[in-house]
Amino acid sequence: MNPSILELRQIVQLANLADTADERTRRIVDSICEVIGTDVCSLYAVDNENNLVLLASHGLSLDKHVVIPRGTGLVGQVAQRCQLTNTDDASLLPQYHYIPGSKEDEFPGFCAVPVVNKGAAIAVLVVQSRQPVKLDPIKEAFLETLAAHLALLLENITSTSHAKLLFDTHISGVPGSPGIGIGTVKLVDSELLSSVEVERCTDSDHEVKLWQALLDETNIELTQEMNALSSSLSQSAFGVFDAYQMLLQDKTLIENVESGIRNGYKLTTALKLSIQYFSDFFSQMEDPYLKARNEDIRHLGNKLFRVWLKRNSKQTALEIEDKKIVLVGETLSISDIANLPPGKLVGIICCDGSSLSHLAVLANALGIPAVMGVNSILNFHSGETVIVNGHSADIIRKPSKSLLKEYAEILATRNQFSDSLSSLKELPAVTTDGVRVHLFANTGLQEDVMSGISNGAEGIGLYRTEIPFMARQSLPSEVEQIAVYQKVFECYPGKPIYVRTLDIGADKPLPYLPTLNEHNPALGLRGIRFTLSHIQLLTTQLRAIIQAAAGRDNIHMLVPMVSSTVELDSVCHLVDEAMDQLQQEGHKLTRPKIGVMVEVPAAISLLPFWESKIDFVSIGTNDLSQYLLAVDRNNPMVAKLHDTAHPAVLHEVQRVVEWSKKTNLPLCVCGEMASDPIAVMLLLGMGVQQLSMSSSAIPLIKSLIRSISATDARAFLATALAMNTTEKIRYEGSKRLHEMGFETPLGIGAVR
Ligand code: PEP
Ligand code: MG
Repeated sequence: MNPSILELRQIVQLANLADTADERTRRIVDSICEVIGTDVCSLYAVDNENNLVLLASHGLSLDKHVVIPRGTGLVGQVAQRCQLTNTDDASLLPQYHYIPGSKEDEFPGFCAVPVVNKGAAIAVLVVQSRQPVKLDPIKEAFLETLAAHLALLLENITSTSHAKLLFDTHISGVPGSPGIGIGTVKLVDSELLSSVEVERCTDSDHEVKLWQALLDETNIELTQEMNALSSSLSQSAFGVFDAYQMLLQDKTLIENVESGIRNGYKLTTALKLSIQYFSDFFSQMEDPYLKARNEDIRHLGNKLFRVWLKRNSKQTALEIEDKKIVLVGETLSISDIANLPPGKLVGIICCDGSSLSHLAVLANALGIPAVMGVNSILNFHSGETVIVNGHSADIIRKPSKSLLKEYAEILATRNQFSDSLSSLKELPAVTTDGVRVHLFANTGLQEDVMSGISNGAEGIGLYRTEIPFMARQSLPSEVEQIAVYQKVFECYPGKPIYVRTLDIGADKPLPYLPTLNEHNPALGLRGIRFTLSHIQLLTTQLRAIIQAAAGRDNIHMLVPMVSSTVELDSVCHLVDEAMDQLQQEGHKLTRPKIGVMVEVPAAISLLPFWESKIDFVSIGTNDLSQYLLAVDRNNPMVAKLHDTAHPAVLHEVQRVVEWSKKTNLPLCVCGEMASDPIAVMLLLGMGVQQLSMSSSAIPLIKSLIRSISATDARAFLATALAMNTTEKIRYEGSKRLHEMGFETPLGIGAVR
């Protein structure tokens, strides 16, 4: 019988459900033998020296530490060429390599398939049969299809499950919070409550009293944790605590546990059953916001259980060694962070988290690098060293000494740059031949505002207003918004501030608004399209910004994702209306300047039509590159293709810069391109004089600008514009930086 697609899915599912990497690979080889009806199935991983290391075998009694040197034998050749071999007698082929002690010669029929990921073999799947026959073409095709599935499944485990494989292991997730952290893993056992055994109680009145006491104690602990974080968190970020406190007061939950106790269960059992019930209930929801609440429920369950354990002295206080810590967990809670002494936490890796999660918001607010949505954390163990790269959403496990050194140097260089800013801070960003450049900060929460000031930002080039919206449980009122904006404006008196109207939709949904089921959200209802279709959100926000800007002439209003004149006209009209209304209500106002973000390529051709309608332009290079290059900026599979040094991006950016020079309309570059040293040289060459970036990048960029002449930057630009690949441009840029004695931290400059 030929294997079916159902069987293929079953193999993948079965492997997926395994608890450990070893178990997973064993299940794979066992089930392949069963489905294909072959005698032997072995799985080899390709290590970073291209040797092949046996992960698991069914049918051969091999020592688990078998390593086939790179390029050796049929298996080595399959990996090297990324090409399948199917033969009736392997021993007759010239490349045949016998593994001593394997008794492989008893299985002449041989078919080996490469498991390819990102253009290279990461593993080889081998089936062998006692019969000297080639594998049936249908089964061969099945194996190839399966290998494509295994490529995803094995990505994280091929290199980790084997004791001998002590090489760098890269794991990708989704960005949670930028920055680089090197530290020791502290695995958080977030499934604590689920391990509780079912126990019956004899005195339910007593248990109910214990439950009430537990609720009170947990409430007190949460307040203490909030206080512990109060020095490092702004009011707006405290919104993340709201969910726990609300749940803790939720009658349905309280009564559900109580009724479990009344039904004869012990408190811990009733709690486990209730949390399980509500967690399942939310996880089945289609709406991502409600689905994400399942995370909060489980966190709260574990929090309650920990407090119970502590009360019953069943758990000693967490031992914190004198090390920098990277917290790793299936799910992590705010309590997990609050329980660590300040300054200890250098990174967060979370399986469950998403951009919706409170944890990501909190990590951003605290400036801790975070990678979320990591496929599998099964293999992490406490005490191992990891590198968390929040910029690229990569994690490096078992980093080799050289890589660790490289990253430590990058971190040290970055820290040094920050330190050296204390002398540079008051100095202007001016090129060696006298061109003045203004450096602004991108900001969202109050925390970044402060770090912008300490890094010497001359204003806010991009205030992402959706971030304070995201850190809440519901929409902020007009009055609340005015207070939030005013607080930010007050930090930069008289300095330029560019406030962007809500840029939501696509990768930035507002958790409490209904979700739209769009097939391609990045091309759907996002940015100004979203707010124009939810016009009440936009008018409230415009009214709030205008009122907060009263009496200030430094406030600029930035419209995201504009792709048509109709959209721009609508916004201008709404601003006029809001101004009129507010004036009629008796407010004294200062009209903010209005500009567009150039992020959709269509906007570039429309700029000449908008000259009289706008006061400035800002290039959002993150999205402009995404749409020009057709690369989803949040997709780890194509992340490397998202590069602002791509020739097409440079030519288009230059078009916008030339237009702004011709029309005398001020221009700012506010995407991450502004923090990439090579790209900054090119922008200087174009004549860009306003850059806005993550505040932590300001020291590096200021120091670069002060080391280069505009003349040299123009020469580099001329060379780069004549090049047809990103690689050539980056190579040329690195060479020039090197000649200037200005080394780029490799691969880190081009974030996003
Ligand atoms: C951009 O697209 O370059 C930009 C700055 O906006 P955001 O990253 O917030 O989409
Ligand atoms: Mg954008």
